[in-house]
Amino acid sequence: MSYQKIILMYHSVGSEAHPAVTGSFPVPLARFIHQLDRASEAGWAFGALSRLHEPVESDTLYITGDDGTADWAANVLPWCEERGIPTHTGLITGPWRAEPIWPVAHRLQILLALPGRKLAEPRLDPEQAAYVDRVYAYEKDERRRRLKGACNVILTDEEARTLLGPPDAEELSHLRARFAAPDVYRGFRHAEFGTHTLSHNAFSGDPMDYVLSEIVPCRRDLEAAGLRDSGFFTLPMRPRYPVTVEQLVPPLREHGFVGVLDGQGAWDGQSFIVPRIDAKNVEEFLQLPAWQG
Ligand SMILES: [Zn+2]
Repeated sequence: MSYQKIILMYHSVGSEAHPAVTGSFPVPLARFIHQLDRASEAGWAFGALSRLHEPVESDTLYITGDDGTADWAANVLPWCEERGIPTHTGLITGPWRAEPIWPVAHRLQILLALPGRKLAEPRLDPEQAAYVDRVYAYEKDERRRRLKGACNVILTDEEARTLLGPPDAEELSHLRARFAAPDVYRGFRHAEFGTHTLSHNAFSGDPMDYVLSEIVPCRRDLEAAGLRDSGFFTLPMRPRYPVTVEQLVPPLREHGFVGVLDGQGAWDGQSFIVPRIDAKNVEEFLQLPAWQG
């Protein structure tokens, strides 16, 4: 008899006591609880991601959260800890540094959410503009669309940082409140942690260089903060064309990693690249009662 192993993917989770971080696309804590409770009633067990490759005795869910935002840390980790439900959080360590490295994608979520902001205007050639308009068609406001598209799929991380300029005091206050400090994560018995890069920069060039400049330093930061690395690396952003996530597998293995969380869907039970089910599709995928929010 073989059982299913499904990995769930969360980001921001908000509640009244600990509201979602600025500009994120949160799942309410009540919905998170609904999903876990209904899944448990349907016979799913919860497993620790570090034991993903070990045999299980029932269908098993693995809870993962990306980015380590303050809302996730305050809402989800204590709730799961109290119930003995294992979690895995992919942490970005740049924000912990004495001179913080703030992830561009997170800066954009904040900048686009602050009212009355004058946003940077990227210079795109007609081909790039057309590409951005196609990829981000759901963003109806042209300036939002172009800024987001330019930063996420056209410009390099460095170019995007130059375009945005250094964060001002208002943005900084949102950034500082956004990422939980390392001591928040210590002392949990059921929470595990993994690397999610130093800067949240997309993988775009030489695979070994990315592992050495973004992933290995992140692991060092985790360990320096007294957290044990799970060995699972969570990929941030889509790799920039023409590179692919498969190219990261050999250097990750070489550095002792056991898997990379990337992409959406059900895991096949053995691949190094481990896809997940997005928080917003959990009820449908697991055939649980719909969330009545
Ligand atoms: Zn992320």
